[in-house]
Amino acid sequence: MKIAVAGTGYVGLVTGVCLAEHGHLVTCVDVDEAKVALMQQGVSPIYEEGLSELMNKNRDRLTYTTDYKAAYADKDVIIIGVGTPEKKDGSANLSYVYAVAEQIAHSVTRDCVVVVKSTVPIGTNDKVEALLNAKSDPSIHIHVASNPEFLAQGTAVRDTLHASRIVIGVEEPETGELLKAMYQEFDAPILVTNRKSAEMIKYASNDFLALKISYVNEIALLCELVGADIDDVTRGMGYDSRIGNKFLQAGIGYGGSCFPKDTKALHWLANFHDYEIKTIKAAIEVNENQKLKPIKIARKYFDSLEGLTIAVLGLTFKPGTDDLREAPSLVNIPIMLDDGAHVKAWDPVGMENFKKRALGDITYCDSIESTLDGADVCFIFTEWPEIKNLDVSLFSKEMRQAIIIDGRNCYALARMEQEPVIYHSIGRRTIF
Ligand code: NAD
Repeated sequence: MKIAVAGTGYVGLVTGVCLAEHGHLVTCVDVDEAKVALMQQGVSPIYEEGLSELMNKNRDRLTYTTDYKAAYADKDVIIIGVGTPEKKDGSANLSYVYAVAEQIAHSVTRDCVVVVKSTVPIGTNDKVEALLNAKSDPSIHIHVASNPEFLAQGTAVRDTLHASRIVIGVEEPETGELLKAMYQEFDAPILVTNRKSAEMIKYASNDFLALKISYVNEIALLCELVGADIDDVTRGMGYDSRIGNKFLQAGIGYGGSCFPKDTKALHWLANFHDYEIKTIKAAIEVNENQKLKPIKIARKYFDSLEGLTIAVLGLTFKPGTDDLREAPSLVNIPIMLDDGAHVKAWDPVGMENFKKRALGDITYCDSIESTLDGADVCFIFTEWPEIKNLDVSLFSKEMRQAIIIDGRNCYALARMEQEPVIYHSIGRRTIF
């Protein structure tokens, strides 16, 4: 099929490249000229395992352009994969989605299917269809389908080629058949439903995962208060197949471009319909508190962080991505800088993006050892394998005083007990 994808972020680019991998001819469109120039040179503008290789392998079937008019003119399917960030009131900002819909309406020269892959509030697909029909040539038939995305950053390529499920929301069977054909080579179960149910499946899934994390984080907090161990507790819970053993990792909260905004958007939508969705509200509150836990622990040792040398290991919101959106590092590091600490940071792929945030004077290090060198306290924000597999004797060897605040429970307590360190983690006893 001839396909265009609007937006070449984590979702749009991975989707486009994976569709090319399965034989489709794909034009990837973005408004960001610098990104498009990089992709035209065969370089991925984002860090995602396996993506560059697939871009290169399928280069004959992939085109990158800012020329949306030409890109949308004659396609079988046009996929909208632009961002839907959070507005100040918590609702989803749909301006990018509607801007693409306008561009499509003014560009198409033949019947086609427009697929909304961006995460959008329930009812948005109807509005996109109305906009397309109102603004395009009346002789052209455009059907709209909801096809939410479930990939996770860090495993996006694998998650797309071997998706847990492909959800297709349509209002007429032939559109469903066309999209089933588009995805026929993908190794995934396909669920066809109506558009509103498809839109709801996305929010209900993401918000359930956010809820699971916040629940575990509250149980971890209780573990600390009563002297239980969250690792053993979640291991014990995970044996129950009704609960499952995934997504039970206690830590300093979820971040990224999805869970924070998708919980707030559903909460906003419920409020809009005069209903307060209490479970999601609680998940949001717990997460906001959890993100600041590292700095709260540090305050137990130091009234002020002024003059301290602080080592920060991990900046991104999770391992496997260069994405910083809603990362706990972004709320904790400014407090350290405000206090007057000297912050040294290391992350295998996130440092360039962190520099762009211009949060203040930070020393970026090229190794974990040099980050720890001379530090008074170390914060761990991301469980990168390099950090998890670290020789933990380095903490006492390199640091001036080895106080470690581990927001991701990277190390076994039994191992840390053998070290001359103070080791704080989440939902576990503190090692002195
Ligand atoms: P992103 O911010 O990484 O990328 C969005 C891209 O769209 C940017 O490159 C931007 O320049 C481009 N863009 C903006 N306006 C455009 C236009 N008019 N035409 C063409 N391109 C345009 O976003 P993302 O993380 O890929 O997320 C996209 C959507 O997918 C969001 O709704 C998000 O909630 C959803 N989603 C994201 C993930 C994830 O893990 N990131 C997972 C599932 C769903």
